[in-house]
Amino acid sequence: MILSLAKTSLNLRARISKGKFYQPAENMINITFPDGAVRQYDAGISAMDIAKSISEGLARKVLAAKVNDQVWDSSRPINHDAAIKFLTWDDEEAKSTFWHSSAHLMAEAVESMYPGVKFWVGPPLEKGFYYDMDLGDQQIGEEDLKKLEVKMAELAKQNNSFLRKEISKADAVKYFEEKGDEYKLDLLSGLQDGEITFYTQGNFTDLCRGPHIPSTGSIKAVKLTSIAGAYWKGDEKNKMLTRIYGVTFPNNKELEEYLVFLEEAKKRDHRKLGKELELFTFSEKVGMGLPMWLPKGAMLRERLQQFLQRKQIEAGYLPVITPHIGHKSLYVTSGHYEKYGKDSFQPIKTPQEGEEFYLKPMNCPHHCEIYKSSPRSYKDLPLRFAEFGTVYRYEQHGELHGLTRVRGFTQDDAHLFCMSSQVKDEFKKVIDLVLFVFKSLDFTDYTAQISLRDKEDRSKYIGSDEDWEIAERSIMEAAAEKELNTVIEYGEAAFYGPKLDFMVRDAIGRKWQLGTIQVDYNLPKRFELTYIGEDNAKHTPVMIHRAPFGSMERFIAVLTEHCAGKFPLWLAPVQVKILPISDKFMDYAEIVSQKLKNSDIRVEIDDRSEKIGKKIRDTELAKIPYMLIIGEKEVAEQRCSVRRQAKGDLGSKSIEEFIEMVLEEVKSMTAIS
Ligand SMILES: [Zn+2]
Ligand SMILES: [Zn+2]
Repeated sequence: MILSLAKTSLNLRARISKGKFYQPAENMINITFPDGAVRQYDAGISAMDIAKSISEGLARKVLAAKVNDQVWDSSRPINHDAAIKFLTWDDEEAKSTFWHSSAHLMAEAVESMYPGVKFWVGPPLEKGFYYDMDLGDQQIGEEDLKKLEVKMAELAKQNNSFLRKEISKADAVKYFEEKGDEYKLDLLSGLQDGEITFYTQGNFTDLCRGPHIPSTGSIKAVKLTSIAGAYWKGDEKNKMLTRIYGVTFPNNKELEEYLVFLEEAKKRDHRKLGKELELFTFSEKVGMGLPMWLPKGAMLRERLQQFLQRKQIEAGYLPVITPHIGHKSLYVTSGHYEKYGKDSFQPIKTPQEGEEFYLKPMNCPHHCEIYKSSPRSYKDLPLRFAEFGTVYRYEQHGELHGLTRVRGFTQDDAHLFCMSSQVKDEFKKVIDLVLFVFKSLDFTDYTAQISLRDKEDRSKYIGSDEDWEIAERSIMEAAAEKELNTVIEYGEAAFYGPKLDFMVRDAIGRKWQLGTIQVDYNLPKRFELTYIGEDNAKHTPVMIHRAPFGSMERFIAVLTEHCAGKFPLWLAPVQVKILPISDKFMDYAEIVSQKLKNSDIRVEIDDRSEKIGKKIRDTELAKIPYMLIIGEKEVAEQRCSVRRQAKGDLGSKSIEEFIEMVLEEVKSMTAIS
């Protein structure tokens, strides 16, 4: 938000006088605004009062403030010089604060209708919020959510302020002991004296670090979206709490838009479409979170895999294949062993005592051993090992979700071993590959998120300063040269190296992280990887992990929701459905089908004795790109009537014309460069 100094009303507490600007007066503080302007105020002024000093209109919009990069209540006194930024509904941080405050409002409503309820935590989500609660003997069902919404609206209208109070640990413990609230006492046990705050709005008081919006009145539209069970602290051994999800808005219009979006998201849900389009299935007998691909899904996945494999061969990748398990010593070397606790898949033991194997959680250690299988020279680099490697990671039961959170998945993995001087070029090539994938699958809205070291503390990273500088610069230059829309996050790099992640927006505006490129200085050291340099001395190569899809499972889930199950022609499991008007035309349908198959077109015949209208409708529902309708006229002329999904009737064509058209369309979609 850009502030105009001209709007200042001088009768308020702002004091601007030329010359005195930077001289600290007693009890005065300097406030710096985002445009660089600095103004003096009395110490103890709040962001809200500063906003009011600028304009009442601005003050009405302020939901919170960023004070020296921390989000604060707009009512909290500022006692020292500070940089501030007002946060309004347009800022993501303000939305988070709004939704978290709404969780308090919901808790107030729940407490008023279900006395004795105890609350655990109520965080904001990317869209909305939830609160976990223990209702004791009471029950809340889906049917009660409406009543809660009404109560929330009623409480919001009271326009109660969120009042912040600093409290000693002893007093806080006493308060919740009297309430008999073991959940808040548990939270308190992890907090230090001096950092504990209570927030009260209306009749509801909560232990919370804040921040919150000024008052409940700005919550104008409420929707409680669902209710679910959630284990306390996410641990299945603990008590099951009740979790209520909701979303709120500062006006009704946005809520209505959001409800339309929810409807659309529901229609596109990959779990629903996966069933309807017969792509994948789960079986409790096989195990939760272990997807099984049905023939159509397998076909689609294989197409995607071949598509990337072909591109990778062109880009100089070498295929490798490694087993699904690895000896304990592999993971001792890689350092993963230390991370394996009782919360992971447990080791596999052999009849021979003392031998332990692990399901592989990643392919990198295996690939490091492949690198070591023969001596390497600088002339061999870069070496690019690619594998569609299936890995297994334990996820808690409650965390599993369709194909996006699973316990076994296949990464489109590759590890590039190169010299420091080659990092930039390798990044550029991987970016090309990722952009090729995005283009072919119609993902047009994406940004690159570059994660670099924490500028303040460089001690927590492995690898030499020099290597890091080269890598960080290489990534930024590669992204700039490829004209990527880039966001840089300091302090977000892994301890072993910087990275670039692609964030993609799908057709209905949801953000997904797809595609990652990561530099690693750790594994080459741990595995003692070397190459002989031009100087005849031994050097350690840089390792780059990269996966354009991420995982096949998650990618196909995102893709399915992005295109609402209408896969592009080149990827569709069934590309053409032949619909004979009656059984009389089956022979000709078979001939057409065979001709298409000979040209590698995936085709099925609808041989049911249904009316043609129904056959057409069912094919449309199955989201098959082309239909060929065959009746008396088509057989007589040795042609077929063509219908294209979403386009309708394309008229009559000879079989050869149709084949050529399909092949041309496929080629144009997968050969974008
Ligand atoms: Zn709170
Ligand atoms: Zn890796």
